[in-house]
Amino acid sequence: MNVIETSALGRRYGGQWALRNCTLNVPEGHLVALVGPNGAGKTTLLNIAVGLTSPTDGQITVLGGIPAGSPTALDRIAFVAQDMPLYRNLSVSDMLHVARNLNHGFDVAYAHGRLGNLGIGLRHKVGKLSGGQRAQLALTLALARHPQLLVLDEPTASLDPVARHDFMATVVTAMTDDGVSVILSSHGLAELERVADYLVLLTDGAVRVDGPVDDLLRQHLRLTGPVGAPVDPRWHVVESRDARAVRVLLARVDDPAMPVPDEWEARAVGVEELALAYLRESPAPTRPFMVEAAR
Ligand code: ATP
Repeated sequence: MNVIETSALGRRYGGQWALRNCTLNVPEGHLVALVGPNGAGKTTLLNIAVGLTSPTDGQITVLGGIPAGSPTALDRIAFVAQDMPLYRNLSVSDMLHVARNLNHGFDVAYAHGRLGNLGIGLRHKVGKLSGGQRAQLALTLALARHPQLLVLDEPTASLDPVARHDFMATVVTAMTDDGVSVILSSHGLAELERVADYLVLLTDGAVRVDGPVDDLLRQHLRLTGPVGAPVDPRWHVVESRDARAVRVLLARVDDPAMPVPDEWEARAVGVEELALAYLRESPAPTRPFMVEAAR
């Protein structure tokens, strides 16, 4: 089952496309990192997926063909927005009360248990909690709905490294314990490298790269050789940099097992390195690179 499926999805604000011709199939059971430069369309895509915005163009379904924004979809998807909209003047207990009234099937016992483990007292005012505690509260409210899909839009942007680490640990635990699929937008590539097993990279409102992280890493190499050495036509160069007489490439290779010519040295790449190479590359080509193996 695909948790998000889009076809030529587009969203225009006035004369400007925030998302354009975005075609994407995200399978269930992954922690998906949605990355891209500022203004790439990440929030727009997530807002459409959770029903907060409607598309101008194209189609989108969630959780195996359910129309995005329909009551069934809303029931099964939990969303934590960038600004974590919590009522700062309410106590944590009142916040849980509001969440229970607004959400059918809200698991109060689960929420109490989680907040107890985190040491977040029910009588605390939400506005007096630390940024990390507020993020954990927002995450608890989302998880207590026992969603099939958890959508997180830059949830750790304002958190310190420890709070960020703890937040991500909670997300990973929810994935393993409850089987929830997660899609998470973030600029924290190093953090995503640790936890994400599926990557979607957007540039200029369109999908540039997507697929399981393991497949993407297998299909890309960092190649170092002398400037002027012939570049194998089966290498699709994503990034090329010269330092004196040395050329450093990051390339997608048709056949990861093929031998590399003697003048070149090859090594594996990491997620951060791979994403940076695509993010530096501009403009986006017309046809996105997709990993077919897992489809
Ligand atoms: P960031 O990483 O900075 O959060 P993003 O990838 O999430 O960026 P979006 O917020 O989706 O990008 O914005 C994509 C484009 O659409 C931007 O040019 C933005 O200015 C524009 N945009 C987004 N929302 C609106 C809106 N409500 N009205 C007008 N333009 C908008």
